[in-house]
Amino acid sequence: MDGEIRNYEKEILDYWAKEKIYKFDPKKKGKVYGIDTPPPTVSGDMHVGHAFSYSQQDFIARFRRMMGENVFYPFGTDDNGLPTERLVEKLNSIKSRNMPRGEFIDQCLWTLRKITPDFVQQWKNLGISADYDMFYSTIDKNSRKISQKSFIDLYKKGLIYKKDFPTIWCVECQTAIAQAELEDKEEKSLFLTLKFSAGGTDLPVSTTRPELLSACVAIFVNPKDKRYQWTKGKGNSSKLGQVKAKVPLFGWEVPIIADESADMKKGTGAMMVCSYGDKYDAEAIRRHNLVPKIIFNYDGTLNSGICKGMKIKDARKKIIDELRTKNLIVKEEPIVHALNVHDKCGTEIEFLPTEQWFIKILDKKKEWISLGKKIKWYPEYMRKRYESWVNGLDWDWTISRDRYFGIPIPVWECKSCGEIILPDERELPIDPTNIKITCPVCKAEAVGETKVLDTWATSSLTPQIISSLVGSKKIKIPHSLRAQAHEIIRTWTFYTIVKSYLHEKKLPWNNIMISGFVTLHGEKMSKSKGNVINPNDVMDKYGADALRFWASGSKLGENMDYREEDVLAGKKFITKLKNASNFVFMNLKDYKPKKPKKMEKIDELFLKIVNNCVFTATSRFEGYDYSKAKSNIDELFWKFFCDNYLEIAKWRVYNGSKQEKESAFYTLYQSLLTILKLIAPIMPFITEELYQKYYRKNEKDKSIHISKWPEYNKKQELAEGNWRELGWANRFFVFTDLISKVRSKKTEDKKPLNFPVVLTLDKKTYNSLKEFHQDLKNVTNAKEIKEGKEFKVEFVD
Ligand SMILES: [Zn+2]
Ligand SMILES: [Zn+2]
Repeated sequence: MDGEIRNYEKEILDYWAKEKIYKFDPKKKGKVYGIDTPPPTVSGDMHVGHAFSYSQQDFIARFRRMMGENVFYPFGTDDNGLPTERLVEKLNSIKSRNMPRGEFIDQCLWTLRKITPDFVQQWKNLGISADYDMFYSTIDKNSRKISQKSFIDLYKKGLIYKKDFPTIWCVECQTAIAQAELEDKEEKSLFLTLKFSAGGTDLPVSTTRPELLSACVAIFVNPKDKRYQWTKGKGNSSKLGQVKAKVPLFGWEVPIIADESADMKKGTGAMMVCSYGDKYDAEAIRRHNLVPKIIFNYDGTLNSGICKGMKIKDARKKIIDELRTKNLIVKEEPIVHALNVHDKCGTEIEFLPTEQWFIKILDKKKEWISLGKKIKWYPEYMRKRYESWVNGLDWDWTISRDRYFGIPIPVWECKSCGEIILPDERELPIDPTNIKITCPVCKAEAVGETKVLDTWATSSLTPQIISSLVGSKKIKIPHSLRAQAHEIIRTWTFYTIVKSYLHEKKLPWNNIMISGFVTLHGEKMSKSKGNVINPNDVMDKYGADALRFWASGSKLGENMDYREEDVLAGKKFITKLKNASNFVFMNLKDYKPKKPKKMEKIDELFLKIVNNCVFTATSRFEGYDYSKAKSNIDELFWKFFCDNYLEIAKWRVYNGSKQEKESAFYTLYQSLLTILKLIAPIMPFITEELYQKYYRKNEKDKSIHISKWPEYNKKQELAEGNWRELGWANRFFVFTDLISKVRSKKTEDKKPLNFPVVLTLDKKTYNSLKEFHQDLKNVTNAKEIKEGKEFKVEFVD
């Protein structure tokens, strides 16, 4: 562990906190640049994916701040719903279901109070420049109030409804969940063809879910399917399905229904409709007014028949055994198929009819798409993901959850007449289960809703929550930026756009930046695979700057492999910055920055190179392309500054005349300050350290991070892209190229680098570098520069 790095990083953190460098002041000058922060879910440790994506948004926040914008960058945690509930259960070895609701909620709040400070400290350690005094938790009083107000507003607008409906259900978490919480999981299974029969004829039907046999309510065949014309029966009916199908093993009969949705190419073309195998079943049963047979309990056990009390998987085994024994299977094919599982627990989802609350979203797909187009996406291609999610939506948004911990749905329902009663907004936040009221219509007792809101129903309101923190009208929606990872486009991005539009007909933000995730040897990290990198360990070993340097290596939106050597490259950069700065200021001890009357030509030329890098890096940062900005700055620092300019300036620093020295001092001072400022958004600690040590006494700003971003001088020749071909820039390259050629010649001949030489240059080079002959002599220790046919180095004995 590099204790030294951690120590100075710690000191700098204290300095920032003491001096309130990142404190937001709504009265400050400058356009407000508001960042809609992703609130992480409190857990023990920050994971490396957090370190990656939060660093990337912080690069932008710091850049904007130095550009003179009034950066509004609050910090919050998402403490709502399932993940917190599961964490609290784990940490305290309790089960929410086995204790009174109030007691469990107290446990959650108590646990959160205990673990949140250490959790947030890790974001501070990483150098995330949020204003931590502008703090919110999605479960705090203010957030509860905003979330319940949102529910009431949408309910009053007719955009929320309650419906008893087969919804996506997790039997592990025992709650309804939303489509956005589904993940695909590949699993081995059996594709079975079962022996149904109808009117004495065999009717083979294929399925992957034989355990649903007793929930089968119909067989669907396609009306065009030639194989099933016989189901018209013996009468003169033109309709298929005049005979009924007999369910194997159970013996009861179900109708055969001609329905165009039956896929003739799948299995035998005849398909089982069960209540409920999937969304298709739910839709089919509704369409044909069939009576569902619900065979599961909420916990996924079967409620009747030969498998009563068994879990779904065990029931599947038992049914298959029975079918095999009774010779009711025509064909068994092993397959691998993608299952829908709950993203929080990995359990295969079911469909169960329960009463839930929904927000209407399906009828506005066009609006969602067009809103998405009004936002600037970085990278632009992420908008496609958003659009394909919207286009694939099948359900309205289920916002209720059958859990304990969460924001209560603020309604009462009259037991007698069914009236829905809403609280007065001034009373919010409330828990309707704690308040007894009578129905205003029939005076009967009204019951408080026991369901809570899904966490996304609240985190989709972060733009409104953060605005409310300021208590000033200055922070208006849309905010400038939403920063987040790509896997939650379908949830966080989408739902936030939905809420802002439904409430205020507004965009939540003007820009959205999307980070990728971190892999290890190409694989997604997960605790179960044991391939997890703890960013705290990396920071302890190499410092936060080195970890951030690694995070800047990936383009926005792209996934990146964690590689220790990339972090090491960051560490090397830090060391080099330190060494170069120490060298410069060893010679500039009492230097007072002042532009000399006469500048050396080569210094002017180098400052032009610096100016060009300012131009490119600025436009990269403006376009959220911090990784290219970093490459430009990296090149300026290593190649131009360290490898060449320092060598060029050295001779004059030691041996030059007063005027030559002044020109070199000025150039060194300014160019190094510019480099430190350019890389400051990416490496905030080392740049602050060096700024305080060497620059603070002459510069007015108390931190490099609130100093002015280097301004490029437009008067100088600039042209992005082809600037290397420009005459003046090219001369600098020719010059530095000559230096390295002379150096390698000396190394080849085992001569010391200061060994005297005579240089011969071809006519073109000789003439184009005429103004720099003295510098070239100084740097290469050339006694003479001659014009000749071709380049030549001769040693002077
Ligand atoms: Zn679950
Ligand atoms: Zn009533």
